[in-house]
Amino acid sequence: MNKRRFLNLMTGALASPLIAPLTTFAEGQPLKNWSGNLTYSTRQVDDASTVDQVRSIVRAQEKLKVLGTRHCFNAIADSSHHLLSLKPMHAIVALDAAARTVTVEPSVTYGQLGPYLDAKGFALHNLASLPHISVAGSITTATHGSGERNRNLSSSVSGLEIVTASGDLVTLSRKTDGETFRGAVVGLGALGVITRVTLDIEPTYKVRQYVYLDLPLEQVKEHFDQIQASGYSVSLFTDWQNRLISELWLKVRDDSPFAGPPEFLGAKLATRDLHPIENLSAENCTAQRGVPGPWYDRLPHFRMGFTPSAGAELQSEYLLPRRNAVDAILAVERLRDQITPHLLISEIRTIAADDLWMSTCYKQDSVAIHFTWKPDWPAVKRVLPVIERQLSTFQTRPHWGKLFTMNPRELRTRYEKLDDFVHLAAKYDPKGKFRNQFLDSTVFAT
Ligand SMILES: Cc1cc2nc3c(=O)[nH]c(=O)nc-3n(C[C@H](O)[C@H](O)[C@H](O)COP(=O)(O)OP(=O)(O)OC[C@H]3O[C@@H](n4cnc5c(N)ncnc54)[C@H](O)[C@@H]3O)c2cc1C
Repeated sequence: MNKRRFLNLMTGALASPLIAPLTTFAEGQPLKNWSGNLTYSTRQVDDASTVDQVRSIVRAQEKLKVLGTRHCFNAIADSSHHLLSLKPMHAIVALDAAARTVTVEPSVTYGQLGPYLDAKGFALHNLASLPHISVAGSITTATHGSGERNRNLSSSVSGLEIVTASGDLVTLSRKTDGETFRGAVVGLGALGVITRVTLDIEPTYKVRQYVYLDLPLEQVKEHFDQIQASGYSVSLFTDWQNRLISELWLKVRDDSPFAGPPEFLGAKLATRDLHPIENLSAENCTAQRGVPGPWYDRLPHFRMGFTPSAGAELQSEYLLPRRNAVDAILAVERLRDQITPHLLISEIRTIAADDLWMSTCYKQDSVAIHFTWKPDWPAVKRVLPVIERQLSTFQTRPHWGKLFTMNPRELRTRYEKLDDFVHLAAKYDPKGKFRNQFLDSTVFAT
């Protein structure tokens, strides 16, 4: 099916709110991830609503994995033994205005947290493209937004409470636990069950969002740094054809002098709100055209209560050193005729370096090249190794929650703290209670 026909079929279905392809936890129903591409390998799911319940479930099970909001595309959250849902644990526990922190239960989503913080005069430094995801699931996989000075969402974590394999409760903080803390934040679900997270907050702010159409790739080549510096959060969307960035999304904070000129490096300011995927309804997207709004309703591309992205899709994303951004973008562009037939849209973002061991941005200012694919895994599985080979000289790190085919030996070379992480995981989980096939075949592969 060609891209236009696929999108036309999808458009009617996806314009309406709240039709995410979520399966329920109902008895007898197969339990799937958000996009429906993964059926979890067990139907044994426990719910926990208190830390004590978590502790007794952890003690009782030989092996288990925790579910967040199930937005990962790969099997990182899967278990063939037992799943634990912390859905009821979504309270905002405490806001400490003096320390500028907020402490939350693990399943609170950014969509729930944002308006709460804003009402109290506070904000987070950044958000991902969607607010629907849980804080614990996001921080443990190094989920990121965009902005050359913005680190990923995990970097906001200043404290963690974890139930370890023995059922003990461990608290870790940035202030007191140094390297152990830096190893634990992007924990990939391998250290235990996160039951509380403390996040840094800052005074609230407003954001204006502008979308530009048809930015020539030549301008990206010549002015990459200028483009990135133009917004607080910048996204370039392309299907890699015609040497064009089809949509450039610039999000600026209220104190920015950027006022949305009608033309930007040859691209034209959009005069209506748009979806990053051509032909899909902008109703699902946050307001554009420079209308100021609260940070939580502008930094994500997609609105809470509406289907983010396309819904029926797969995703992959590769992070690599920002200094190689232009070369890497041009290298992917050369693969356009292999990529585009299977693609809904690509997005290019930058993220600042951090010091979290398993972060995709560990010690590296990064560019992220993302692919939203049509839901055709056999085709995507064929094209991913081609992209990975093409980008291999740039030492890419695949997103922990998305699809990749890179072999574990290569993956291990991308994380200098990987052995330390394996030791840290063994300290909290000596028998591999929280390990699953995904972790065994990547991080823990020998
Ligand atoms: C439409 C869409 C858009 C996206 N956009 C972005 C984006 O802009 N940027 C980006 O970086 N990513 C993006 N993602 C990926 C997504 O943010 C990550 O995959 C994230 O992990 C999802 O969180 P979750 O709660 O759904 O995690 P899940 O898929 O439920 O779980 C992920 C991992 O977290 C673990 N986990 C969850 N809760 C706990 C807990 N309490 N204790 C211990 N471990 C736990 C699970 O066991 C698993 O290992 C997007 C995904 C979708 C579907």
